[in-house]
Amino acid sequence: MQITDNFDSGNIRVINATDASNIQLEIKHDNQSEFYQWFHFKLQTELNANGERQEHVLHLNNVKNSAFPGGWNNYQAVASYDREHWFRVPTQYDGEKVTISFTPEFDSVYLAYFAPYSYERHQDLIHNAQLHPLCQLQVLGQSIDGRDMSLLTIGEPSEGKPNIWITARQHPGETMAEWFVEGLLDRLLDEDDGLARVLLNKAVFYIVPNMNPDGSVRGHLRTNAVGANLNREWLEPTMDRSPEVYLVREKMLEVGVDMFLDAHGDETIPANFVAGCEGIVAYDARHKALEDKFKDIMLVITPEFQDTLGYAKNEPGKANPTVGTNWVGNQFKCLAYTIEMPFKDNDFLPDASVGWSDERSRILGRDFLTGIYHMVDDLR
Ligand SMILES: [Zn+2]
Repeated sequence: MQITDNFDSGNIRVINATDASNIQLEIKHDNQSEFYQWFHFKLQTELNANGERQEHVLHLNNVKNSAFPGGWNNYQAVASYDREHWFRVPTQYDGEKVTISFTPEFDSVYLAYFAPYSYERHQDLIHNAQLHPLCQLQVLGQSIDGRDMSLLTIGEPSEGKPNIWITARQHPGETMAEWFVEGLLDRLLDEDDGLARVLLNKAVFYIVPNMNPDGSVRGHLRTNAVGANLNREWLEPTMDRSPEVYLVREKMLEVGVDMFLDAHGDETIPANFVAGCEGIVAYDARHKALEDKFKDIMLVITPEFQDTLGYAKNEPGKANPTVGTNWVGNQFKCLAYTIEMPFKDNDFLPDASVGWSDERSRILGRDFLTGIYHMVDDLR
Protein backbone atom coordinates (compact mmCIF):
# COMPACT_ATOMS: atom_id res chain seq x y z
CA MET A 1 0.00 0.00 0.00
CA GLN A 2 1.25 3.46 -0.87
CA ILE A 3 -0.12 6.90 -0.10
CA THR A 4 1.26 10.06 -1.66
CA ASP A 5 0.40 13.76 -1.85
CA ASN A 6 3.38 14.59 -4.05
CA PHE A 7 1.42 16.38 -6.78
CA ASP A 8 -0.55 19.55 -7.56
CA SER A 9 -2.80 20.44 -4.59
CA GLY A 10 -1.82 17.29 -2.69
CA ASN A 11 -2.11 17.38 1.09
CA ILE A 12 -1.71 14.49 3.54
CA ARG A 13 0.80 13.29 6.11
CA VAL A 14 1.11 9.53 6.53
CA ILE A 15 1.48 8.43 10.15
CA ASN A 16 1.05 4.71 9.56
CA ALA A 17 0.00 2.90 6.39
CA THR A 18 0.91 -0.70 7.02
CA ASP A 19 -2.55 -2.12 7.73
CA ALA A 20 -5.37 -1.43 5.26
CA SER A 21 -7.94 -1.73 8.04
CA ASN A 22 -6.27 0.97 10.15
CA ILE A 23 -4.54 3.68 8.10
CA GLN A 24 -3.43 6.67 10.20
CA LEU A 25 -3.22 10.06 8.49
CA GLU A 26 -3.06 13.78 9.29
CA ILE A 27 -3.88 16.89 7.27
CA LYS A 28 -0.98 19.37 6.91
CA HIS A 29 -1.30 23.00 7.97
CA ASP A 30 -1.27 25.76 5.37
CA ASN A 31 2.29 27.14 5.30
CA GLN A 32 2.88 29.69 8.10
CA SER A 33 -0.73 29.34 9.20
CA GLU A 34 -2.88 27.48 11.72
CA PHE A 35 -5.52 26.69 9.09
CA TYR A 36 -5.99 23.21 7.69
CA GLN A 37 -8.92 21.22 6.31
CA TRP A 38 -8.17 20.53 2.63
CA PHE A 39 -6.83 17.05 1.89
CA HIS A 40 -6.01 15.37 -1.41
CA PHE A 41 -3.99 12.21 -1.86
CA LYS A 42 -3.55 9.08 -3.91
CA LEU A 43 -3.98 5.61 -2.43
CA GLN A 44 -2.34 2.66 -4.17
CA THR A 45 -4.47 -0.13 -2.73
CA GLU A 46 -3.50 -3.51 -1.37
CA LEU A 47 -5.16 -6.88 -1.96
CA ASN A 48 -5.86 -9.16 0.99
CA ALA A 49 -4.14 -12.51 1.64
CA ASN A 50 -6.51 -14.21 -0.80
CA GLY A 51 -5.68 -11.75 -3.56
CA GLU A 52 -9.07 -10.01 -3.26
CA ARG A 53 -9.96 -6.35 -2.99
CA GLN A 54 -10.44 -5.34 0.61
CA GLU A 55 -11.91 -2.57 2.65
CA HIS A 56 -9.55 0.32 3.41
CA VAL A 57 -10.19 2.27 6.61
CA LEU A 58 -8.50 5.66 6.65
CA HIS A 59 -8.42 7.83 9.76
CA LEU A 60 -7.78 11.58 9.57
CA ASN A 61 -6.51 11.97 13.12
CA ASN A 62 -6.14 15.72 13.57
CA VAL A 63 -9.43 17.11 12.27
CA LYS A 64 -10.69 18.18 15.69
CA ASN A 65 -8.47 21.27 15.57
CA SER A 66 -9.00 21.96 11.87
CA ALA A 67 -10.27 25.35 10.69
CA PHE A 68 -13.95 24.31 10.76
CA PRO A 69 -14.53 21.22 12.93
CA GLY A 70 -18.29 21.54 12.31
CA GLY A 71 -17.52 20.93 8.67
CA TRP A 72 -16.96 17.25 9.41
CA ASN A 73 -20.47 16.60 10.73
CA ASN A 74 -22.45 14.79 8.01
CA TYR A 75 -19.51 15.19 5.64
CA GLN A 76 -18.64 12.52 3.05
CA ALA A 77 -15.21 12.52 1.37
CA VAL A 78 -14.92 12.38 -2.44
CA ALA A 79 -13.00 9.76 -4.41
CA SER A 80 -12.14 9.18 -8.05
CA TYR A 81 -10.57 6.39 -10.10
CA ASP A 82 -10.23 8.39 -13.31
CA ARG A 83 -9.71 11.92 -11.87
CA GLU A 84 -12.79 13.07 -13.80
CA HIS A 85 -15.75 11.59 -11.95
CA TRP A 86 -15.78 12.20 -8.19
CA PHE A 87 -18.15 10.26 -5.98
CA ARG A 88 -18.82 10.25 -2.24
CA VAL A 89 -17.45 7.49 0.01
CA PRO A 90 -18.72 6.53 3.48
CA THR A 91 -17.21 8.90 6.03
CA GLN A 92 -17.80 9.30 9.75
CA TYR A 93 -16.80 11.91 12.32
CA ASP A 94 -16.78 10.92 15.97
CA GLY A 95 -15.80 14.34 17.32
CA GLU A 96 -12.10 13.38 17.34
CA LYS A 97 -11.23 11.93 13.97
CA VAL A 98 -12.72 11.45 10.54
CA THR A 99 -12.86 7.87 9.27
CA ILE A 100 -13.28 6.98 5.60
CA SER A 101 -14.16 3.30 4.97
CA PHE A 102 -14.64 1.73 1.58
CA THR A 103 -13.48 -1.05 -0.72
CA PRO A 104 -11.73 0.45 -3.76
CA GLU A 105 -12.79 -1.19 -7.04
CA PHE A 106 -9.50 -0.45 -8.82
CA ASP A 107 -5.82 -0.49 -7.93
CA SER A 108 -5.39 3.24 -7.45
CA VAL A 109 -7.80 5.83 -6.12
CA TYR A 110 -7.64 9.55 -5.38
CA LEU A 111 -9.33 10.96 -2.29
CA ALA A 112 -10.02 14.63 -1.62
CA TYR A 113 -12.02 17.10 0.44
CA PHE A 114 -13.84 18.21 -2.73
CA ALA A 115 -13.33 17.66 -6.48
CA PRO A 116 -9.92 19.27 -7.11
CA TYR A 117 -9.43 21.99 -9.72
CA SER A 118 -5.87 21.62 -10.99
CA TYR A 119 -3.46 24.35 -12.01
CA GLU A 120 -3.28 22.74 -15.47
CA ARG A 121 -7.06 22.95 -15.81
CA HIS A 122 -6.84 26.58 -14.70
CA GLN A 123 -4.38 27.25 -17.54
CA ASP A 124 -6.64 25.42 -20.00
CA LEU A 125 -9.58 27.51 -18.81
CA ILE A 126 -7.98 30.91 -19.32
CA HIS A 127 -6.24 30.02 -22.59
CA ASN A 128 -9.42 28.56 -24.04
CA ALA A 129 -11.23 31.76 -23.00
CA GLN A 130 -8.77 34.00 -24.84
CA LEU A 131 -9.86 32.47 -28.17
CA HIS A 132 -13.15 34.40 -27.88
CA PRO A 133 -12.98 37.55 -30.05
CA LEU A 134 -14.01 39.81 -27.16
CA CYS A 135 -11.68 38.27 -24.55
CA GLN A 136 -8.31 39.56 -23.41
CA LEU A 137 -6.02 37.52 -21.17
CA GLN A 138 -3.85 39.79 -19.09
CA VAL A 139 -1.19 39.12 -16.43
CA LEU A 140 -1.49 41.65 -13.62
CA GLY A 141 1.72 40.54 -11.93
CA GLN A 142 3.01 37.61 -9.92
CA SER A 143 2.08 35.81 -6.74
CA ILE A 144 4.64 35.22 -3.99
CA ASP A 145 5.73 31.89 -5.52
CA GLY A 146 6.00 33.61 -8.91
CA ARG A 147 2.77 32.42 -10.53
CA ASP A 148 0.82 34.68 -12.87
CA MET A 149 -2.16 36.59 -11.56
CA SER A 150 -4.35 36.22 -14.65
CA LEU A 151 -7.30 38.46 -15.48
CA LEU A 152 -9.83 37.82 -18.25
CA THR A 153 -11.45 40.97 -19.63
CA ILE A 154 -14.48 40.08 -21.73
CA GLY A 155 -16.45 42.67 -23.70
CA GLU A 156 -15.53 45.99 -25.27
CA PRO A 157 -14.76 48.54 -22.57
CA SER A 158 -16.55 51.85 -23.03
CA GLU A 159 -17.58 54.71 -20.78
CA GLY A 160 -21.22 53.88 -20.36
CA LYS A 161 -20.95 50.17 -19.65
CA PRO A 162 -21.00 48.67 -16.18
CA ASN A 163 -17.90 46.75 -15.08
CA ILE A 164 -18.79 43.38 -13.60
CA TRP A 165 -16.04 41.72 -11.54
CA ILE A 166 -16.00 38.04 -10.62
CA THR A 167 -13.28 36.46 -8.48
CA ALA A 168 -12.83 32.93 -7.12
CA ARG A 169 -10.58 30.89 -4.85
CA GLN A 170 -9.25 33.56 -2.56
CA HIS A 171 -9.48 30.51 -0.32
CA PRO A 172 -7.71 27.96 -2.51
CA GLY A 173 -9.23 24.79 -1.00
CA GLU A 174 -12.68 26.05 -2.04
CA THR A 175 -12.30 24.51 -5.48
CA MET A 176 -16.05 24.66 -6.17
CA ALA A 177 -15.48 28.38 -6.70
CA GLU A 178 -13.38 27.79 -9.82
CA TRP A 179 -15.81 25.11 -11.07
CA PHE A 180 -18.47 27.81 -10.68
CA VAL A 181 -16.43 30.27 -12.77
CA GLU A 182 -15.84 27.59 -15.41
CA GLY A 183 -19.60 27.15 -15.83
CA LEU A 184 -20.23 30.87 -15.93
CA LEU A 185 -17.45 31.38 -18.50
CA ASP A 186 -18.72 28.49 -20.62
CA ARG A 187 -21.97 30.30 -21.11
CA LEU A 188 -20.55 33.82 -21.38
CA LEU A 189 -18.15 32.74 -24.15
CA ASP A 190 -20.75 30.78 -26.16
CA GLU A 191 -21.23 32.86 -29.28
CA ASP A 192 -24.52 31.05 -30.01
CA ASP A 193 -25.99 32.05 -26.67
CA GLY A 194 -28.25 35.09 -27.03
CA LEU A 195 -28.13 35.96 -23.35
CA ALA A 196 -24.34 36.03 -23.42
CA ARG A 197 -24.33 38.22 -26.54
CA VAL A 198 -26.68 40.74 -24.95
CA LEU A 199 -24.61 40.79 -21.77
CA LEU A 200 -21.40 41.41 -23.70
CA ASN A 201 -23.09 44.28 -25.54
CA LYS A 202 -24.18 45.88 -22.32
CA ALA A 203 -21.33 45.20 -19.88
CA VAL A 204 -17.66 44.37 -19.50
CA PHE A 205 -16.64 41.36 -17.40
CA TYR A 206 -13.41 41.21 -15.40
CA ILE A 207 -12.86 37.66 -14.20
CA VAL A 208 -10.07 36.31 -11.98
CA PRO A 209 -10.72 32.55 -11.94
CA ASN A 210 -8.02 31.88 -9.36
CA MET A 211 -7.10 34.56 -6.82
CA ASN A 212 -4.71 32.24 -4.97
CA PRO A 213 -2.68 30.05 -7.35
CA ASP A 214 0.08 29.42 -4.79
CA GLY A 215 -2.27 28.15 -2.12
CA SER A 216 -4.02 26.03 -4.75
CA VAL A 217 -0.87 24.24 -5.88
CA ARG A 218 0.45 23.93 -2.32
CA GLY A 219 -2.71 22.14 -1.18
CA HIS A 220 -3.80 24.89 1.23
CA LEU A 221 -7.28 25.40 2.58
CA ARG A 222 -7.34 29.11 3.20
CA THR A 223 -4.09 31.07 2.75
CA ASN A 224 -1.41 32.04 0.24
CA ALA A 225 2.26 30.98 0.26
CA VAL A 226 3.07 33.02 3.39
CA GLY A 227 -0.04 32.28 5.40
CA ALA A 228 -2.08 35.37 4.45
CA ASN A 229 -5.85 34.86 4.42
CA LEU A 230 -6.45 36.90 1.27
CA ASN A 231 -10.07 37.60 2.14
CA ARG A 232 -8.84 39.62 5.15
CA GLU A 233 -6.32 41.67 3.17
CA TRP A 234 -8.51 44.03 1.14
CA LEU A 235 -8.18 47.15 3.27
CA GLU A 236 -4.37 47.36 3.15
CA PRO A 237 -2.88 44.69 0.88
CA THR A 238 0.89 44.77 0.25
CA MET A 239 3.11 43.32 -2.46
CA ASP A 240 5.10 41.54 0.28
CA ARG A 241 2.27 39.72 1.98
CA SER A 242 -0.73 39.74 -0.36
CA PRO A 243 0.28 40.71 -3.92
CA GLU A 244 -2.68 38.68 -5.22
CA VAL A 245 -5.14 41.11 -3.66
CA TYR A 246 -2.94 44.17 -4.20
CA LEU A 247 -2.75 43.61 -7.97
CA VAL A 248 -6.46 42.92 -8.45
CA ARG A 249 -7.44 45.83 -6.24
CA GLU A 250 -5.21 48.23 -8.20
CA LYS A 251 -6.92 47.15 -11.43
CA MET A 252 -10.32 47.65 -9.85
CA LEU A 253 -9.36 51.18 -8.79
CA GLU A 254 -8.17 51.83 -12.35
CA VAL A 255 -11.27 50.65 -14.26
CA GLY A 256 -14.02 50.77 -11.62
CA VAL A 257 -16.51 48.23 -10.33
CA ASP A 258 -20.32 48.22 -10.76
CA MET A 259 -20.94 44.68 -9.55
CA PHE A 260 -18.76 42.19 -7.68
CA LEU A 261 -19.26 38.48 -7.10
CA ASP A 262 -16.67 36.59 -5.06
CA ALA A 263 -17.09 32.80 -5.17
CA HIS A 264 -16.35 30.63 -2.14
CA GLY A 265 -17.19 27.33 -0.49
CA ASP A 266 -18.50 26.95 3.04
CA GLU A 267 -17.28 23.99 5.08
CA THR A 268 -20.20 23.84 7.48
CA ILE A 269 -23.48 25.03 5.92
CA PRO A 270 -25.14 22.49 3.54
CA ALA A 271 -26.66 25.00 1.09
CA ASN A 272 -25.94 27.68 -1.50
CA PHE A 273 -26.32 31.25 -0.32
CA VAL A 274 -24.94 34.77 -0.66
CA ALA A 275 -23.57 37.19 1.93
CA GLY A 276 -23.99 40.89 1.21
CA CYS A 277 -22.92 44.31 2.38
CA GLU A 278 -25.56 45.26 4.97
CA GLY A 279 -22.84 46.15 7.47
CA ILE A 280 -20.71 48.49 5.35
CA VAL A 281 -20.58 52.21 6.12
CA ALA A 282 -21.80 53.19 2.63
CA TYR A 283 -24.87 50.91 2.73
CA ASP A 284 -28.08 52.66 1.70
CA ALA A 285 -31.56 52.02 0.33
CA ARG A 286 -30.33 51.72 -3.25
CA HIS A 287 -27.73 49.13 -2.27
CA LYS A 288 -30.34 47.14 -0.36
CA ALA A 289 -32.76 47.26 -3.30
CA LEU A 290 -30.06 45.88 -5.62
CA GLU A 291 -29.23 43.08 -3.18
CA ASP A 292 -32.87 42.15 -2.68
CA LYS A 293 -33.62 42.14 -6.39
CA PHE A 294 -30.66 39.92 -7.21
CA LYS A 295 -31.55 37.44 -4.48
CA ASP A 296 -35.20 37.33 -5.59
CA ILE A 297 -34.12 36.69 -9.17
CA MET A 298 -31.77 33.87 -8.17
CA LEU A 299 -34.56 32.26 -6.13
CA VAL A 300 -36.68 32.17 -9.30
CA ILE A 301 -33.87 30.94 -11.55
CA THR A 302 -32.74 27.86 -9.64
CA PRO A 303 -33.90 25.66 -6.74
CA GLU A 304 -30.20 25.19 -5.90
CA PHE A 305 -30.22 28.72 -4.46
CA GLN A 306 -31.90 29.63 -1.19
CA ASP A 307 -31.99 32.42 1.38
CA THR A 308 -32.92 30.56 4.58
CA LEU A 309 -29.55 29.19 5.66
CA GLY A 310 -26.58 31.53 5.64
CA TYR A 311 -24.40 33.81 7.75
CA ALA A 312 -25.75 36.06 10.49
CA LYS A 313 -26.21 39.58 9.14
CA ASN A 314 -23.74 42.31 10.20
CA GLU A 315 -25.03 45.17 12.30
CA PRO A 316 -25.12 48.52 10.45
CA GLY A 317 -21.57 49.87 10.10
CA LYS A 318 -20.04 46.78 11.72
CA ALA A 319 -18.94 44.82 8.64
CA ASN A 320 -15.31 43.69 8.55
CA PRO A 321 -13.77 46.10 6.02
CA THR A 322 -10.86 43.75 5.24
CA VAL A 323 -13.20 41.26 3.51
CA GLY A 324 -13.22 41.58 -0.29
CA THR A 325 -16.96 41.94 -0.72
CA ASN A 326 -17.19 44.59 2.02
CA TRP A 327 -14.23 46.57 0.76
CA VAL A 328 -15.47 46.57 -2.85
CA GLY A 329 -19.10 47.28 -1.90
CA ASN A 330 -18.03 50.22 0.24
CA GLN A 331 -15.36 51.63 -2.08
CA PHE A 332 -17.48 51.50 -5.25
CA LYS A 333 -20.95 51.69 -3.65
CA CYS A 334 -21.98 48.77 -5.84
CA LEU A 335 -23.80 45.47 -5.60
CA ALA A 336 -21.29 43.03 -4.06
CA TYR A 337 -21.97 39.50 -2.93
CA THR A 338 -19.91 36.66 -1.54
CA ILE A 339 -21.31 33.44 -3.04
CA GLU A 340 -21.04 30.39 -0.81
CA MET A 341 -21.45 26.80 -2.01
CA PRO A 342 -21.32 23.73 0.23
CA PHE A 343 -18.55 21.17 0.62
CA LYS A 344 -21.20 18.70 1.78
CA ASP A 345 -24.44 18.78 -0.19
CA ASN A 346 -27.32 21.12 -0.80
CA ASP A 347 -29.67 19.74 1.85
CA PHE A 348 -32.63 21.32 0.05
CA LEU A 349 -31.91 19.17 -3.01
CA PRO A 350 -29.63 16.34 -1.87
CA ASP A 351 -27.79 13.86 -4.10
CA ALA A 352 -26.31 11.03 -2.03
CA SER A 353 -23.99 9.75 -4.76
CA VAL A 354 -22.05 12.94 -5.47
CA GLY A 355 -23.26 15.50 -2.91
CA TRP A 356 -22.58 19.07 -3.98
CA SER A 357 -20.21 18.57 -6.91
CA ASP A 358 -17.99 20.07 -9.57
CA GLU A 359 -20.78 19.72 -12.14
CA ARG A 360 -23.44 21.27 -9.91
CA SER A 361 -21.08 24.18 -9.19
CA ARG A 362 -20.63 24.67 -12.94
CA ILE A 363 -24.38 24.73 -13.50
CA LEU A 364 -24.81 27.22 -10.66
CA GLY A 365 -22.22 29.43 -12.37
CA ARG A 366 -24.32 29.39 -15.56
CA ASP A 367 -27.41 30.23 -13.53
CA PHE A 368 -25.69 33.18 -11.86
CA LEU A 369 -24.96 34.55 -15.33
CA THR A 370 -28.72 34.50 -15.96
CA GLY A 371 -29.12 36.44 -12.72
CA ILE A 372 -26.58 39.02 -13.86
CA TYR A 373 -28.52 39.39 -17.13
CA HIS A 374 -31.59 40.45 -15.13
CA MET A 375 -29.55 43.00 -13.14
CA VAL A 376 -27.36 44.53 -15.80
CA ASP A 377 -29.59 47.54 -16.53
CA ASP A 378 -29.81 48.45 -12.83
CA LEU A 379 -26.12 48.51 -11.97
CA ARG A 380 -25.46 52.18 -12.79
ZN1 LIG B 1 -13.97 31.19 1.44
